[in-house]
Amino acid sequence: MQKEENNKCVIVIFGATGDLAKRKLFPSIYNLYKKGSLSENFAIVGAARREWSDNTFRENVATSIQDSKINVDADLDDFLKHFHYLSFDVTNTSSYQNLHELINELDEQFNIPGNRIFYMAMAPQFFGTIASYLKSNEVTTTIGWSRLIIEKPFGHNLESAQKLNIDLREAFAEDEIYRIDHYLGKEMVQNIEVIRFANAIFEPLWNNRYISNIQVTSSESLGVEDRGGYYDHAGALRDMVQNHMLQMVALLAMEPPNRLTTEEVRTEKIKALRALRPMKSEDVDRYFVRGQYGRGMVNGKEVNGYREESNVDPNSATETFVAGKLLIDNFRWAGVPFYIRTGKRMTEKSTKIVIEFKELPMNLYYKSKDEMHPNLLIIHIQQDEGLSIVLNGKKVALSGETTPVKLDYCSSCQDVLNTPEAYEKLLYDCILGDATNFTHWDEVSLSWSFVDTISKVWENSIPTDFPNYEAQSMGPKISDKLLADDGFHWWPISDDSPYSILKGENINENV
Ligand code: NAD
Repeated sequence: MQKEENNKCVIVIFGATGDLAKRKLFPSIYNLYKKGSLSENFAIVGAARREWSDNTFRENVATSIQDSKINVDADLDDFLKHFHYLSFDVTNTSSYQNLHELINELDEQFNIPGNRIFYMAMAPQFFGTIASYLKSNEVTTTIGWSRLIIEKPFGHNLESAQKLNIDLREAFAEDEIYRIDHYLGKEMVQNIEVIRFANAIFEPLWNNRYISNIQVTSSESLGVEDRGGYYDHAGALRDMVQNHMLQMVALLAMEPPNRLTTEEVRTEKIKALRALRPMKSEDVDRYFVRGQYGRGMVNGKEVNGYREESNVDPNSATETFVAGKLLIDNFRWAGVPFYIRTGKRMTEKSTKIVIEFKELPMNLYYKSKDEMHPNLLIIHIQQDEGLSIVLNGKKVALSGETTPVKLDYCSSCQDVLNTPEAYEKLLYDCILGDATNFTHWDEVSLSWSFVDTISKVWENSIPTDFPNYEAQSMGPKISDKLLADDGFHWWPISDDSPYSILKGENINENV
């Protein structure tokens, strides 16, 4: 009963004519509607600059749903009746007054008890302005609840993030702010906690006694596409490491929470981020590697290097690849390196976590150390979602030789149709008031503090070797050295053959 009352709401999407709304938000809302997760008591207000009518807006919403991979059922017309459009100027008071009036009308029409979500799907420079106008025009004053969903990037560094946070906090309390990190909506990222805390075979091993190192790779095969203008000022460190990569590290490293409540989970993630060893400027070059893609061949065609992409400075020093070694100074993780790498124009689109276990104290089966295969737990975040465990088994033969055995579980293959998209899950969480899979301000500020030291060093030392990796590669060779110095190597991200994960990649003896 409580749940039903709670999911009655008006969702205002600022930037409703934009790419995010079209590709992610409308299809997600439609899926929630189809599955019955939204009651009939909801309304969507699209707010953007263009002079659209409700009908034009609805046609665009319908097209976006048809263009997505969703099965479109006959109820689309009923669904679209919930959509309304408001031509909007973010710095004009009358826009907010019109919005307030429209929301009140929709509350009445759809029997909504004053609950509202404000979704900022616009350029970040408007976030603070919109929040303050919403407050001054009393749009956030309601008898129901009022929540703000805010997209990345949350600031450009700690200082700008603090300023943005102060602006938002004037209009919304911390528990009303839902900072989206869409990685936290991904099925297998959420599954990290289940794997760790619901399985007796993993949690006892989840520490520096049994784990030798952890590798988190998030690679893109595409270049910057049409985001050159934004990306050239951000780079991979701000675009990926500050948020998604550090969030995955926090989930892997955190202590078991006392309960699965927002408060308890966040407390543990914040503690893990606090234990992250801060970078000293003089250590940045030893622990972090940056790269920029040059030209290369993709599917038989030559593709542009980063500096030749549109809206990118032809002398740009922006990194499109980052690899790093992180250390977590607490009892559980002391001495275990967490290696991260992320970049554009790499060999394939993939996000994977590899947990490499330590060797047994005594070797009964192998003649040399090179023949030994460590146990691995591989969490496949995307494209496929699932996990694999690599064990050693006996080779089917008379001799007592062993062979690596890989056990695979693919969750997205089991339930392709019902696997919800990250945005769908996160929107639904927000409607239900569950902020567990959104980032708390303390996580944002700790992540920026960590990343700022690296970006300051990089800004003050222009790389002379850019571009330093070819498109369609796994980044600059120098990133192998981060691991080689510790006696490890990157595990391959490709899963073409069941044992491909067992062959180290790109190990360059000459680095
Ligand atoms: P976009 O440029 O496609 O859309 C921007 C929207 O804002 C449009 O609807 C436009 O009409 C509106 N707008 C711009 N200026 C306005 C003004 N002065 N008054 C009223 N409306 C105005 O941008 P996008 O790609 O949809 O991204 C939106 C936000 O989401 C950004 O913060 C971006 O970083 C973030 N984001 C986008 C994606 C994605 O896949 N597109 C992914 C992650 C995060």
